[in-house]
Amino acid sequence: MLFLTRKENSIHLYFEILLINKSAGNVNLFILAAAIKKQIEAVYKGKFGRFELTTVVTVKPIYKHQLKMLHNKLVIAVSEYVTNDNIAEADFGGLLIKLNLKYIESIISGNNKRTVPHELGHILGLDHPHANAAFESVNLKASLLEQVMSNEERTTNLMCQGWYVQKAGIELNSALNLTEGQVKLIYENYNSKKLNRNYNIVKGFFNYKWVGKI
Ligand SMILES: [Zn+2]
Repeated sequence: MLFLTRKENSIHLYFEILLINKSAGNVNLFILAAAIKKQIEAVYKGKFGRFELTTVVTVKPIYKHQLKMLHNKLVIAVSEYVTNDNIAEADFGGLLIKLNLKYIESIISGNNKRTVPHELGHILGLDHPHANAAFESVNLKASLLEQVMSNEERTTNLMCQGWYVQKAGIELNSALNLTEGQVKLIYENYNSKKLNRNYNIVKGFFNYKWVGKI
């Protein structure tokens, strides 16, 4: 689950994440858990316009016989089956992030510090600020708080897709920024109960209704 508290303009996020390896690959979940915690806490922290954001993450590795524990929890699953073989995908406003087994090493090494915080942005109800496959565009389906971003802000924004950032000539690990509007939107989404949506996970992890964003 994720929790948010706000006192005036100080916002605190708390994520309790369960980490599971659903792939056939060998993954050291303790090392991966440490990388995930560090990468999220580094990005969701600091001053964003009038907001001061702090974040604490706990990541607990779990094993396959403990699947029942996943109900109603925020889960990161290592998987061999990610849509279009992308690096990862996330359930918009939901509780599941899938990481592609092929890219786990790059996340552990820190060569890729962006994917986990980006997918978590979708969990927090943040959309891509740009339109699909269109450079220097606005995503008209996104919240107005996300649409107001300038072309320059978009080049280093966490929620732009990787190809967008690379087209702007920016290193992926340098595009980790959030705007004041995005932080406000996280608060509004949480406050209006649009987050922590668990869909059909009650029927078991394997029947999870996937409504993901990449
Ligand atoms: Zn995305």
